[in-house]
Amino acid sequence: MSKPVVAIVGRPNVGKSTIFNRFVGERIAIVEDIPGVTRDRIYGEAEWLNHMFNVIDTGGIMIGDEPLSEQMRVQAEIAIEEADVIILIVNGRDGLTAADEDVSKILLRSNKPVIVGVNKVDNLEMEEQIYDFYSLGFGQPFPISGSHGRGTGDLLDEVFNHFPSDAWDEIEPDTIHFAVVGRPNVGKSSLVNSILGEERVIVSERAGTTRDAIDTSFVSDKQKYRIVDTAGMRKRGKIYENTEKYSVLRAMRALERANVVLVVLDGEEGIIEQDKKVAGYAHESGRGVVIVVNKWDAVEKDDRTMNEFTERIREEFSFIAYAPIIFVSAKTKQRVQKVLPVVKLVSDNHQMRMPTHVINDVIMDAVAMNPTPTASGMKRLRINYATQVAVAPPTFVVFVNDPELLHFSYRRYLENKLREAFSLEGSPLKVIARRKN
Ligand code: GDP
Ligand code: GDP
Repeated sequence: MSKPVVAIVGRPNVGKSTIFNRFVGERIAIVEDIPGVTRDRIYGEAEWLNHMFNVIDTGGIMIGDEPLSEQMRVQAEIAIEEADVIILIVNGRDGLTAADEDVSKILLRSNKPVIVGVNKVDNLEMEEQIYDFYSLGFGQPFPISGSHGRGTGDLLDEVFNHFPSDAWDEIEPDTIHFAVVGRPNVGKSSLVNSILGEERVIVSERAGTTRDAIDTSFVSDKQKYRIVDTAGMRKRGKIYENTEKYSVLRAMRALERANVVLVVLDGEEGIIEQDKKVAGYAHESGRGVVIVVNKWDAVEKDDRTMNEFTERIREEFSFIAYAPIIFVSAKTKQRVQKVLPVVKLVSDNHQMRMPTHVINDVIMDAVAMNPTPTASGMKRLRINYATQVAVAPPTFVVFVNDPELLHFSYRRYLENKLREAFSLEGSPLKVIARRKN
């Protein structure tokens, strides 16, 4: 499902990240510590009155040594590009500043809805501080306190009034939605063009309902596919598209609407830190994952090169050991025809539902082969029963005497046994422990 997006804009220190954390805060469940992924968050999911939406803290998008005015211009442009509604945060204690006015001018030209939040208005007496900010031209400013939560509900009500009515767009169930992600220049758009050119496909471009996202739909081998956010891949040349945070943000936006994610690497340049972040987000999203090594034509190789590259990927991306790897050249089209069948396979695996009796056989065999561990003086973990509770990704609950006793390594062992028993290539899987005596 697609969700509306709110971007928070404003000068440094006005309280953007405090407000971001208040909106998204507790919702972030960090499953594993993947290097670089869980730190410096600028994008997250939030909920208000039973509706989900996404929030971007543009303050976290910095570009090198650019002067402040330039940074703020870029942040405002990103907000305009990405968001349905923009929240401009100002500091009620400082009053109106020239920098607030500069950003407002950029935002005014965009015709996007902008709501002004006058922050650090921590009590009723301070509310008159909002009057200064009428002159920005966005109507009534909202007095808020990011640190206390005061007024943030009224602000969100107003934000919701401005979301387009079709912002919560349903995903079509019989269509495989996939996203093509990766750092700039790995060949994402070349790969998409190559896939579309290779297949005899009926292509239709559908303007995204809310933003200028364009998806490409087509049919191949009787299966319907949709590549999400193909427009995002085509845009070129603006400095901020090359900033690392922004490209990660775009990747997250795209994979959110996908069932399967293609993480594209550059075979010629090899793996760098930013690739790991993109892959980390793909994994965390719980989507099916395929690793595509592109530009294979440009690699000088012998009969060992592919194995060596595979080993490197497995080492660097140990958290997505389940993802199949395909070596392609978007340029010469070598093996590009393999991509869609693998996407289809991964999508099927991601949706897999296993019979409960088979799951229990697998788990009980696993326990018999490798009994649950005990530490001296500790209770022994007893597993009574296991069942699958969800698909996409397949999620299993094991009922145990005490969930605390299911440690990471034994959980991993059970996960591996389930993987061996079922064909789950490309799909993450989850094992959750629940108490039942
Ligand atoms: P950002 O640079 O815009 O992201 O600002 P931060 O969220 O990092 O906040 C800057 C400072 O303002 C921090 O010390 C916050 O604790 C403080 N702050 C944020 N919101 C409020 C508020 O509502 N009231 C007060 N008194 N301080 C706040
Ligand atoms: P994106 O930024 O990830 O969408 O990357 P592009 O598709 O724009 O490609 C970046 C550059 O890599 C362009 O100069 C492409 O011509 C080149 N490129 C893309 N795919 C291949 C490939 O398979 N082989 C070679 N040799 N070059 C490629």
